[in-house]
Amino acid sequence: MFRGRKPAIQVKSPQQVELMRAAGLLVGETLELLREAVKPGITTMELDELAERHIRDSGGVPSFKGYHGFTGTICASVNEEIVHGIPNAGKVLRAGDVISIDCGAIVEGWHGDAAVTVPVGEITAELRRLLEVTETSLWHGLAAGRAGARLTDMSHAIEAYIRSQGPYGIVEGYGGHGIGTEMHMDPLIPNHGAAGHGPVLRSGMCFAVEPMVNLGIKETLELDDGWTVVTADGRFSAHFEHSFAVTPDGPRVLTALDEGREWFAKLEAGTASR
Ligand code: MG
Ligand code: MG
Repeated sequence: MFRGRKPAIQVKSPQQVELMRAAGLLVGETLELLREAVKPGITTMELDELAERHIRDSGGVPSFKGYHGFTGTICASVNEEIVHGIPNAGKVLRAGDVISIDCGAIVEGWHGDAAVTVPVGEITAELRRLLEVTETSLWHGLAAGRAGARLTDMSHAIEAYIRSQGPYGIVEGYGGHGIGTEMHMDPLIPNHGAAGHGPVLRSGMCFAVEPMVNLGIKETLELDDGWTVVTADGRFSAHFEHSFAVTPDGPRVLTALDEGREWFAKLEAGTASR
């Protein structure tokens, strides 16, 4: 019946959005726990174990573990690694590193997915700025996720903000996605492109938005482990992600502890960007 047409985007009832919030909150809490645990000397495997224990103790299931054979509860991507880094007992974090932690969990069949890049000890001003720009670009994307908007309004908001901040490499070929009864659902959400294209957003649709921004060029390589994506020039990268629901009152950020209130207030006041 839908032959030749774009696949439908899953629409959740208000009750289902509440279940999505439970999954999202668990992911958000897990990332807070890991953010506090990041310090020089800890291994990415220790972070992974913390995450798995917290998710399971809270009644959730780690969604990454076993996903196409992935072995971790988190993706742990350090420095020039952009996404999909595999937790490793031999990978010790050192001061000056940045680690991107991506985490997903399932609660009662519903998925949450979020990521954050965390400094390890003191990092350079250039890296601090990369993290700020990437996180702020995520919130510009989320703010564009309103009922009645088009899908690529989010893509454009992300790209326009990053371009206004400097000559960063905006990673292509990886991006956001629909989320709900599966982690990765239609449609894909690029982190670049013109506004005004793609499906119209409706209340009850849920998406994960996830810009990846490089200090250098945008080009990427995949390592021989079949997972880890790195920058082609070896310069460092950042990745921030949240899952959100389109609601009649605007975007509800399911993986943010405060559902996004503080960030949206900052954007509205114009104090989030410089
Ligand atoms: Mg993710
Ligand atoms: Mg995702």
